[in-house]
Amino acid sequence: MSDALRVLSPNPVVLEAVPLRIEPDEVLRFQGYKKGVVASDEVLALFDDAMARGQQLMAPRVVYRSTPVVGQSADLIETGGERLRIPEIGRLWGPLTAVGAGICTVGLAIEESVRSLFDQREFPLAVMLDSVGSAAVESLAEYANDLLCQLALGDGLRVTNRISPGYAGWATAEQEALFRLCPGAPIDVTLNTACFMSPVKSITFLVGIGPEARVDHYFSQCRRCWMRDCAYRRAPAASTVHR
Ligand code: SF4
Repeated sequence: MSDALRVLSPNPVVLEAVPLRIEPDEVLRFQGYKKGVVASDEVLALFDDAMARGQQLMAPRVVYRSTPVVGQSADLIETGGERLRIPEIGRLWGPLTAVGAGICTVGLAIEESVRSLFDQREFPLAVMLDSVGSAAVESLAEYANDLLCQLALGDGLRVTNRISPGYAGWATAEQEALFRLCPGAPIDVTLNTACFMSPVKSITFLVGIGPEARVDHYFSQCRRCWMRDCAYRRAPAASTVHR
């Protein structure tokens, strides 16, 4: 699966059959639970049911492509014919030689099942399954970020933490530019004119790449990285390393 992936891959590469691990805390966070709060037995039973359904339904896939950076300033990255206006990116990521754009999805089946559960008025289970889907696609994006980091370090390159249009001041409208950098078609993800993706449980990401790219600029990436036995680990994992 990861054999085909190269950090500087100039063509779209698809990762399939990713060994996803969904963290219960992450699912409950989407339900509004604060870290450390113990859910009731009823909620935990719903969670178990939703997790079992989610595991059956999800089809995690990632498409990824890298493009060289041809220009960079405080709030701008020029790459692949696009001008990405990202606030403070020069300070946050430092000098880059390339970027990597990716799209992650867990597929349509989860949202179809959520819709069907709503139709059957199974509201708590529908909402919990929706949270499982959200946690799963977050986990998938983290996995892709971690895998790229690990592959890059072997080549003397650094990969930053991921960012996405619509977050931290980066305009949602630049989702279109991201799709031009990395097409969603190889994993059947589409973008409509309002910049909503289908399947809904999809995430785009951009990472910076370069020998002097800044990592750990606001949290230590290694602390939440699940790459087991990484020879380059800069900090111990904050929780059990699952991969
Ligand atoms: S442990 Fe740290 S260096 Fe290794 S892949 Fe994870 S984030 Fe990168």
